[in-house]
Amino acid sequence: MKRLILLGAFLALPAIAQDFSRSAAPENGFSYVLGDVQEHWQGGQISWYYNPTNQPAGLSTEDVVGLIKIATAKWEGMCNLQFNYQGLITSAAPMLDATWNTIDRINVIGWAVLTGSRADYDGYTQWWYDASGNMADADMVLNSARTWTQSNKQSLEALITHELGHVLGLQHSKTSESIMYVPYHTYSYQRTLRGDDAQACAALYGASSNAESNRLFNWAEQYPNLFAPAVAASATYAGYYYRYYPTTNSYVGTKDGIVWYIGPDGQLQNLGPMGNYLGTAYGAGF
Ligand SMILES: [Zn+2]
Repeated sequence: MKRLILLGAFLALPAIAQDFSRSAAPENGFSYVLGDVQEHWQGGQISWYYNPTNQPAGLSTEDVVGLIKIATAKWEGMCNLQFNYQGLITSAAPMLDATWNTIDRINVIGWAVLTGSRADYDGYTQWWYDASGNMADADMVLNSARTWTQSNKQSLEALITHELGHVLGLQHSKTSESIMYVPYHTYSYQRTLRGDDAQACAALYGASSNAESNRLFNWAEQYPNLFAPAVAASATYAGYYYRYYPTTNSYVGTKDGIVWYIGPDGQLQNLGPMGNYLGTAYGAGF
């Protein structure tokens, strides 16, 4: 691949969160946007490093790596890809202005003050691929000109979740009900992948065997009286795939196509086949 190629650039959220009206997308209609040549990582394997240089004082390296791992797990729960953490690196920085001939083929997430046309963004991802659609490099810069502290870690997690959509090969979606949609949703919204995001990732890598469960759980979290706080991580236990909600002291899980629930009374309840809920969940955008 000597030819040129190149970048999909991307961005992330403006500093000011806003709410936007929903589009008139058809029910269950998706309009995610893949790359020009459907670029993606071979075998669904995405290695990444974290470079803590210029990391905001209010955050620790452990904090940031932890947030990135939370974000990668969301995508891994929807499609057949794996983000493989390679550790810390300071000898390579994210290089947004690299060319095909100067990329280092080391995927780095790090910090810098974004300038010029990028200054309006909280984060920015650039990726490089060959004409056959093979990803070669992807770098993400988190804007250290912003204030990032313990109190807005969830916003940073949401930002990273959106940026990782670019790292895996997605452009901005035309469907409002997507975390890849522009104009950008709020960070609160962007913490939860939508059905369009799941479908987009699956188009490149195939759907995860847990995708239906995660989409159902994401929808269930819209009921905070039952499942709070929202945006719990998924886990496995004894054949169950589940999430735990400490505020409501409840669990929701799936096993063999059945939905299970444990509430504050500790009783395991069979809520019936997943198929009884998926249509509603998908119709609601999850
Ligand atoms: Zn973006």
